[in-house]
Amino acid sequence: MIAPEKPSVENEPKERVAHPFRTLRELLDFVSGKSLPLAEPEEGLRSEALPFPFLAIVGQKEMKLALLLGLINPSVGGILLVGPRGTAKTTAVRSLLDILPKVDRSLCYYGCLSEDIEIGGIDAVCPECAKKYAEGQPLSALDRVRLIELPLNARLDDVIGGIDERISLTHERLRVRRGILAQADHNLLYIDEINLLADDIVDAILDAAALGSYTVRRGPIAANYHARFVLVGSMNPEEGHLRPQILDRFGLRILVRGLQDLSERLEAYRRVQAYLANPRGMSVMYSDETLAAAEEIQSARMLLPKVILPDNVAKPAIKMVRKLGIDSLRAEISWFEAARAYSAADGRSKVSPEDLREVAPMSLRLRRSTYISDYFTNQAKEENELNTLLITSIRRKK
Ligand SMILES: [Zn+2]
Repeated sequence: MIAPEKPSVENEPKERVAHPFRTLRELLDFVSGKSLPLAEPEEGLRSEALPFPFLAIVGQKEMKLALLLGLINPSVGGILLVGPRGTAKTTAVRSLLDILPKVDRSLCYYGCLSEDIEIGGIDAVCPECAKKYAEGQPLSALDRVRLIELPLNARLDDVIGGIDERISLTHERLRVRRGILAQADHNLLYIDEINLLADDIVDAILDAAALGSYTVRRGPIAANYHARFVLVGSMNPEEGHLRPQILDRFGLRILVRGLQDLSERLEAYRRVQAYLANPRGMSVMYSDETLAAAEEIQSARMLLPKVILPDNVAKPAIKMVRKLGIDSLRAEISWFEAARAYSAADGRSKVSPEDLREVAPMSLRLRRSTYISDYFTNQAKEENELNTLLITSIRRKK
């Protein structure tokens, strides 16, 4: 169980105390309620240089939890943050920088990994990597997950890649330039204001996210790229709708509201001021917790493949999804994957009903499409009409 978030306590002792947390979730609770001593301003440091510490974000527990679950288990299928401006959505995503886990990263331009060969045979990788594999050389090395931000003015060519004119001119051969999606392989791709992005770009991103790869065709050449990434989108619903098909393709959906509690708002203000005055001091103040969180995420990722979902836990959940009138199979996939990540974060290898309960709202909300229910109602009406007409109009031969 997640304990209720602690409010900030004035006159709290300023020296460090032993960490009372055992798991990632407890750490989150512990540190979110930490009161800050006032930081001394530091000269000549720009605030952009260091991200705001993730664990210093006040409140917004569901948003923080969803982002962590996404880092632990990319199969949750993307995270959408919906809320007005000034609710720390972008801050939260950028602040993940210090707690991003490490992954096996391909050393190759096309993103080949030895696991591709294990699954798809030697033809699943490029010729260079096939040669390396045969010689027993590694195709990958351990590297930290990176945060890739999609610029709002990105064109389709930037996203999926296009002909590299520089190389094409100098080498007299065509080469496809890697797009942002290929760079996002094994990374976190963040799209702010996703509802303002052109439809063709959103479709390309969501298709790549679903398949984990994509193909670029330009005239006679085609190149296939891996694109296995955690997608995080954010949007302000006041600035435009998101197509329902897109909404359905985000595994977790978080409604981010401004802080309601007075003392939380004051604490948030204090922390932002402390950060602006001295970003490095702020980073140092949270460094122990940040390191602990990064380690927790890494060990949860290691445990994840062993986390099982028992049938007797899954079946009532599927029944509930049907009762809610949700047709999309994506609902229970992301629900179950989020619960597995939650269980792993708690150091357990078996999903409990409690795990499912904790992550249900973020997995199941905004799933019911009136379009689909209207569609089925209209279809049923049409079937009835047809049958009635058939009975009255086309008489059976006697
Ligand atoms: Zn390769």
